[in-house]
Amino acid sequence: MFRFGGEVPRMKVMMDYLPLVVLGLRVVGVGVQRAVGDGPRAGGGGGAASRPTTQASTQAGEGGVGHIEKSDEEWRKILTPEEYAVLRQKGTERAFTGKYDHHFEPGSYVCAACGLELFTSDTKFDSRCGWPAFYAAKAGDRVKLTRDVSYGMVRTEVTCARCGGHLGHVFDDAPDKPTGQRYCINSVSIKFIPKGKEK
Ligand code: FE
Repeated sequence: MFRFGGEVPRMKVMMDYLPLVVLGLRVVGVGVQRAVGDGPRAGGGGGAASRPTTQASTQAGEGGVGHIEKSDEEWRKILTPEEYAVLRQKGTERAFTGKYDHHFEPGSYVCAACGLELFTSDTKFDSRCGWPAFYAAKAGDRVKLTRDVSYGMVRTEVTCARCGGHLGHVFDDAPDKPTGQRYCINSVSIKFIPKGKEK
């Protein structure tokens, strides 16, 4: 008669389950790693509190771009009504209406609110989406990337790392570009500086 319980069968049961225990620990480990990676981070510009989603976001606020904080009243005085609506109220200009949608002169694009250099013409491309598109920011510390679940969509909002001004969103839908990313930016949020005229 077989009796389940002796030392040898118990060891066998342990050995049989060992791979499952190890696998379980690995799964727990990955879960923790992801939770840390997706967690909120300090630093960077202002904007709504939510969680950054890509590598660039981890560098936001760490690259010495500084931080500009102004009251709502001050921003209203500095910006045009259109700039204020997009940069401070997260508005979106109408597609195919922005002045930089089909602008491909060599130069840089700075934040329309604080002047921080955000993008260059080197990474600008015609995405035909109706807004200026770049496949990368000038540097990871120039923009802050934040998870945005407004309007029933899950997107990644792009804001200026220095003043927190809303610039647009970034999407992973440019597979033919080096980064695979499309920074979809409002023309109103940026200002073009021709090559050689940069500060
Ligand atoms: Fe800015």
